[in-house]
Amino acid sequence: MSFTPHGKHLIAGEWVAGDATFQSAPASGSAHAFAVGTVENVNAACEAAEDAFWSYGYSGREERAKFLNTIADEIEARAEAITQIGTEETGLPEARLNGERGRTTGQLRLFAEHILKGDYLDRRHDKALPDRQPLPRPDLKMVQRPIGPVAVFGASNFPLAFSTAGGDTAAALAAGCPVVVKGHSAHPGTGEIVAEAIHAAREKLGLHPGVFSLIQGGNREVGSALVQHPNIKAVGFTGSLGGGRALFNLCAARPEPIPFFGELGSVNPMFILPEAVKARGAEIGKGWAGSLTMGAGQFCTNPGIAVVIEGSDADAFVSAAKAALSEVGPQTMLTDGIAEAFRSGRDRVAATAGVQELLTSTCDLRNATPNLYETTGENWLANHELGEEVFGPLGLVVTVKSADEMRKVAKSLQGQLTCTLHLDQGDAELGKSLMPILERKAGRVLANGFPTGVEVADSMVHGGPYPASTNFGATSVGTLSIRRFLRPVCYQALPDALLPTDLQ
Ligand code: NAP
Repeated sequence: MSFTPHGKHLIAGEWVAGDATFQSAPASGSAHAFAVGTVENVNAACEAAEDAFWSYGYSGREERAKFLNTIADEIEARAEAITQIGTEETGLPEARLNGERGRTTGQLRLFAEHILKGDYLDRRHDKALPDRQPLPRPDLKMVQRPIGPVAVFGASNFPLAFSTAGGDTAAALAAGCPVVVKGHSAHPGTGEIVAEAIHAAREKLGLHPGVFSLIQGGNREVGSALVQHPNIKAVGFTGSLGGGRALFNLCAARPEPIPFFGELGSVNPMFILPEAVKARGAEIGKGWAGSLTMGAGQFCTNPGIAVVIEGSDADAFVSAAKAALSEVGPQTMLTDGIAEAFRSGRDRVAATAGVQELLTSTCDLRNATPNLYETTGENWLANHELGEEVFGPLGLVVTVKSADEMRKVAKSLQGQLTCTLHLDQGDAELGKSLMPILERKAGRVLANGFPTGVEVADSMVHGGPYPASTNFGATSVGTLSIRRFLRPVCYQALPDALLPTDLQ
């Protein structure tokens, strides 16, 4: 089935054309014209979302679970067309798009199950103590309620699982929040067909049309107007540090500041401890190369930094990584802008004093091969900018003189999505001394593996101290991510009939 996008926004149940259009820039296939979003589009979508909240925000969990499952069915019904437009727009291979579609529908179904269980409501009850001295205690009940309409900015690198019907949208709809998506200009056609699936599901169940809107981009005003609209009560964002910070600042500066849940960049350092590198340095080096180049290195959990104690074992690790990386051919980057940012990040690392180039890449237009650099712990500690993310297939080995210097490097890190330890039994003491540092730095600490591949599960945390995210008490992956779109309300001495259904 071939899909040709019509290029319109979906606003409150209507497909809306624009006066101006922008052209998509696919990695292959034909470019298409898409309506440029306007402030008027934002206003219309946000007014409809607020209107929808009065029914959707008070709907039953069964109804919302059915909506999520129906969206998953509608996405599956468009499987082939989604893969076709998705591969064209992003340059990601077909198998990746198919896998990501499964992850997206799995995520929607998981949220359906999760809300039916009801644990997320965190219901509490402190019974009245009328005889308590010196004062009686009133009856107190608490439950989590939906926060209101939510704005979602999808990620360029996950056109399905973190975009139009991705984790943020699924969590917000599960919570009872209408959603307004700002479409990512890197995959507007993929956004359109997924919006079509949500639209079809909404119509099937007869829900308010303001429950979901998609506004295409092509104009930065759309994003800034959306986060500043008074009807928007929270924002989910996945993207760059610069873009995320600009929108976060706008949220904080509003007359009514709102939470901005930004998932931003991270270098995801790996600490390779001496016994592990001695026993299997080459194997870890090869595994690292695979993780570093997966999806052309365009993963937020890409492990860009490897810290290892200098010596012949470390050399074997580096040689294996270099050999494996040099076999990786050119891979397509998601957009021209991301390829350009990769080139300038790579040139910045290469130009830093004390950094040695082990493998030079080519990055012509949108195709990049991997790079590998090495520096000392001392040089790393003196050059903080080496800790900034380069989004793409680039690795930096930091060789330290001692365990003490390894801890210093760990302490110097900014907030991370993940930190990884490679360790064997003989490394237990060093590993233990690193743990208090690493858990202060990252949302997820893992051992003897690679951080790419984020499980969608109850225990997952995909977040971390700034700049990994703007709100380190939250996760954007897994069922706990619903918390971002809820607010606790306490009901004191209220008659049952006035309580929310979930408390009756
Ligand atoms: P981006 O340039 O920040 O764009 C993300 C979205 O925000 C797009 O919709 C973009 O609009 C909009 N936007 C950006 N700056 C804006 C501004 N100043 N005002 C209004 N809207 C603005 O990010 P990207 O290039 O798509 O993605 C690459 C980055 O995302 C990498 O740095 C990567 O680390 C990060 N990332 C993080 C995670 C994570 O989970 N933490 C996952 C994936 C990627 P347009 O469509 O108009 O550009």
